[in-house]
Amino acid sequence: MRPRKVPLRKCVACQEMKPKKELIRVVRTPDEEILIDLTGKKAGRGAYLCGKVSCFKLAKKTKALDRALKQPVGVAIYDQLEQDFIAVEEEFLAEKERVSDEDE
Ligand SMILES: [Zn+2]
Repeated sequence: MRPRKVPLRKCVACQEMKPKKELIRVVRTPDEEILIDLTGKKAGRGAYLCGKVSCFKLAKKTKALDRALKQPVGVAIYDQLEQDFIAVEEEFLAEKERVSDEDE
């Protein structure tokens, strides 16, 4: 086994580098749908956001997802994603706890 550094990704909203499991991935699928991808494994171009609604709101304000996904993201899609984001935030935090327990 080779020692591995924790993979870091940058939040497209606040620009902070964080371990992947601290971030929520938003993916633009090959069908050009924009979705929250909690598994982190969906095909497509991904963008990462901190698992906080405040970062989502910042991304919405600055249109950071448009740039990261290289596609215009309409207001309606941002609104939909924001609702999904709020819905998954709790699940995401619970999952993070579980994953870090397994890492021990
Ligand atoms: Zn952030």
